[in-house]
Order: sequence, then structure tokens, then C-alpha cells
Amino acid sequence: MAETTWHRRHILSLETFTPAEYETIVQTAESFRQVLSRRTKKVPALQGQVVTNLFFEPSTRTRSSFELAAKRLSADTLNFAPGTSSLSKGETILDTAKTYLAMGTDLMVIRHQEAGVPLAIACELDRLGANVGVLNAGDGQHAHPSQALLDLFTLCSVLDAEAPSIELLKRKKIVIVGDILHSRVARSNLWSLSACGAIVHLVAPPTLLPMQFVAPFQNAIVGTHQLRQVQLHWQLEPALAGADFVMALRLQQERMTQHLLPSLREYHQQFGITRDRLSLCHSAVKLLHPGPTNRGVEISSDVMDDPALSLVSHQVTSGVAVRMALLYLMGTYHASST
Ligand code: ASP
Repeated sequence: MAETTWHRRHILSLETFTPAEYETIVQTAESFRQVLSRRTKKVPALQGQVVTNLFFEPSTRTRSSFELAAKRLSADTLNFAPGTSSLSKGETILDTAKTYLAMGTDLMVIRHQEAGVPLAIACELDRLGANVGVLNAGDGQHAHPSQALLDLFTLCSVLDAEAPSIELLKRKKIVIVGDILHSRVARSNLWSLSACGAIVHLVAPPTLLPMQFVAPFQNAIVGTHQLRQVQLHWQLEPALAGADFVMALRLQQERMTQHLLPSLREYHQQFGITRDRLSLCHSAVKLLHPGPTNRGVEISSDVMDDPALSLVSHQVTSGVAVRMALLYLMGTYHASST
């Protein structure tokens, strides 16, 4: 593993990440991808460290992926599940975090249904002078950095499997379609993809993509003068023309407080990704989805199961290497400040 310098104790959002940091993550993930393709898929990088997964909201792939990543780095892992914990006895979230701190946690991976909880825990741990890194594994509609970073790594490795790099993303057209309004994945991807020079097109019904949604992303400058390139569409077909990648998002019905869609059937008719619609894209187009997927709603089943089109399994596999990279980089910061 090449020497890398990492300057962040916590990873809470991608808002201030630089192209150089994205490149460090891609290169570190690539080294771990190579480790994971060996017979012995384990390295001693975090031996003796404790990684705690505090998941207050349900998760299948993210929690398992972080757990496996930590184990592949030889860390000891602790897993917190709210249903079986003292939260049900009235303990506060901060006290739960402090309990794991007292057990010697070095890195905390946190998911919560409310935006801002990982930040609140990170602030409290910093205030206590604890040398603990907090990684946001999804907070409300705010951010899901590790998902966007695994998407980034997947895109770079599909563009060049031998030498993935963020340079390959320059001017690539990436269409994100679905429930943008409620999606922390879309928000995090907007920061990373636009900072790496991709042209991001967002598509959704107007109720799920308000005009003002994009302003904070468009007005944020990358580097010295380069503006982020984001375009909005309320119809799918015109947006797909010449797309290099299409990322479909789940309809987050658990976060829809009002009636925002006529019916799932109608949504599929207008915004579902089908083989016919993909023929409007670049001939080498590939499809991504962060999961979990509503088959036949966001994507037709035959497209989802076609390995020539769908990168869904590839994303899951990349997820372990990317999460190893994030834990490793945060671990190097942790080690340098003890
Ligand atoms: N798994 C992703 C998330 O946690 C996407 C989704 O749930 O639709 O945000």
C-alpha cells in the first residue's frame, strides 16, 4: 500500500471533498480490490482497533458491507441494533455512543433516520477529546458518503478496469432518475460526480425534483473557477440521449409524507428504466442502483438481471473495497493523532 496522507478525522458529507481526495479514495479502494481478489482476503491494517456499527435505521447491504470491510482489515467489530438495545429503555443516542467509546471504539459507523445525528455524535466525541473517527452511513435525506464513493469507484473501474481514476469521469454524462427529493444518495453523488468533472442530469416528476433543489450544488465551486455541471429534467426520454451511465433511485415511500405520485404503475410508465429507453443512451451505457430495488417500478426486471447492462452486483462488490479504503484512511489519521 503506497503512503497516503489523509486529513479528515470524520467523514460526514462530501460537500468539501476535493478531486485529490476522491483520487486517493479510488486508488486506495483499488489496492483493496486487489487484496479481495486474492485467496487470503485479509490485511492487518486495523489490527487491535475497534470498529463499531451503530445502525439506528434498518440496513442490509451497508451494515454488512462495513462489517466485512472492518473484518478484512483485521479490526474487532461491534454491532448495535436498536430493537435489542438499551435505547428501548430510554437511553439517549449520545449515551449509547459514549458507552461504545468507553469500550475502546476507535471508529464509529453511524446510520440514523434523522439528518445530523452522525454530526452531533462526532461533535460530542470531539468535545470529550476522544480520538474517534465517525463515518456517516446515511442520515435522513442528508448524506450517504460511502454509497456515493462506491458508485464513484464502480464508474471509474468500469471505464478502465486496469487503471481506474477520476480523470476518466471528465465530461461523462450521468443521468440520475427517481426520487431525488428524498435521496441522500443523490445528494452525495451530486457532490462527488460534479467535483470529478462529470455532467450530472437529474430526472424526476416535478413533485420529486423541485426547481430550487439544485441551487446549492450548482453554486458551489470546485477548484478555483470550475462550476459544477448539473441539469434538471422532468421527462425521462430527452434526458437519456447519449448518457454514459444511468443511476436509478428507489422511491422512498417511508419518507413521503404527502401524496407525491399518482401510482407506482404510472411512475414506471413515465420514469421506469426499460431496455427500450436504454437504447436512447450511449451504446455502452450501464445502469446503477444503490438498492434496495423495487423491481418493475424503478427498473424493469429483465434490465436489472442483465449483466451486460446492470452494475448493481458490481456496486455491492465495490462497496467492500471502498469501505475498507475509508476505514483504513480514517485509521491512518487516528494513528497519526495518538
Ligand atoms: N440504501 C440507500 C440508502 O440507504 C438507498 C435507499 O434506501 O433507497 O439511502
